[in-house]
Amino acid sequence: FGHGAPQPQGKTRVKGVKRIIAVGSGKGGVGKSTTAVNIALALADEGLKVGLLDADLYGPSVPKLLGIEGKPAIRDDGIFTPHEAFGLKAISIGSMLVPGQAVVWRGPMATSGLRQLLRETEWGGLDVLIIDLPPGTGDIHIALFQQTIVDGVVIVSTPQDLALIDAQKAIDMLRRMSVPVLGLVENMSYFIAPDTGHRYDIFGTGGAEQAAGKLEIPFLGPIPLVMSIREGSDAGMPPVAHAPEGPEAQAYRLIARRI
Ligand code: ADP
Repeated sequence: FGHGAPQPQGKTRVKGVKRIIAVGSGKGGVGKSTTAVNIALALADEGLKVGLLDADLYGPSVPKLLGIEGKPAIRDDGIFTPHEAFGLKAISIGSMLVPGQAVVWRGPMATSGLRQLLRETEWGGLDVLIIDLPPGTGDIHIALFQQTIVDGVVIVSTPQDLALIDAQKAIDMLRRMSVPVLGLVENMSYFIAPDTGHRYDIFGTGGAEQAAGKLEIPFLGPIPLVMSIREGSDAGMPPVAHAPEGPEAQAYRLIARRI
C-alpha cells in the first residue's frame, strides 16, 4: 500500500540561492549533521558562498556543531539574519530556544517553521545551501520536497544493516518524490586504533558501497570513526575548519567534490 507518494506541485527556488543540497539519513545518530556541516565547510573552502539550514527542527544540532551562541538578529520586517560561522551562513531553530527546550509541534507547525527558516532568512546570495534534514521520511521532508526545488540529496548511513535498511527507505522516498539522489556516504566506516594501528570494522564495512551499487546510486565515500571528529563536533570545532589538512577533513573534501 502507500504507492501514492505526494506529487510535486508548483515547486519553487529560494530567492538568492543557486543550488540546494540536502543531507538526510534513514535513522538518527549515524552522523548526518556532522557530515552536513563538514561538507558545507569543504564547499566554502572551494570558494563558494555557502549557507547551512538546520531542518532537523526536533533535534537541531547545527549551533552546537558550529559553536554558535545567541539568537539570530531579526530585521524590522521579520526576516532572520543568519549567524556567520567559519565562513558559513547558518540558521537553526536551536539558536532560538532556551537550553533544554523541546520543539513540541505537530506537522503543520513544523512545516511552516521550516518554510520560515528557509524563505525568511536573509541568505544574501548563495552558491549552495546545505540543508541538514531530520532523520527518516516525515512531514518536514514531504513539505520541503513538495514546495522547494532541491537539486539533490546526500544520504548518510553507517555500514550496519539496520542503518542501511532505513537509508534505502529514505532513497525510496526521494525517488517517489522525484528528488535527485546524489549518493550514499558511509560514515563510521572503520576505526584505526591510534596506539596499534589496527583496523576495526565496528559496524561492519563496505555495506554502504554495496547498497549504493544495488540501488544504482553513486557511492560518495567512507568517513572513518575517529575520536577527533566526535571531540571537535562537541567543541564546536568541526574537523574541516579545525584541522583542514588532516585526514578527516580530506575525507569530507572528497565527498564535497563528488556532489
Ligand atoms: P545524526 O545527525 O545522524 O543524528 P550526528 O551528526 O549528530 O548524527 O552524530 C552522532 C554522534 O556521532 C555525534 O556525537 C557525533 O559527534 C558522532 N560522530 C559522527 N560522525 C562521526 C565520526 N565519523 N567519527 C566519530 N564520531 C562521529
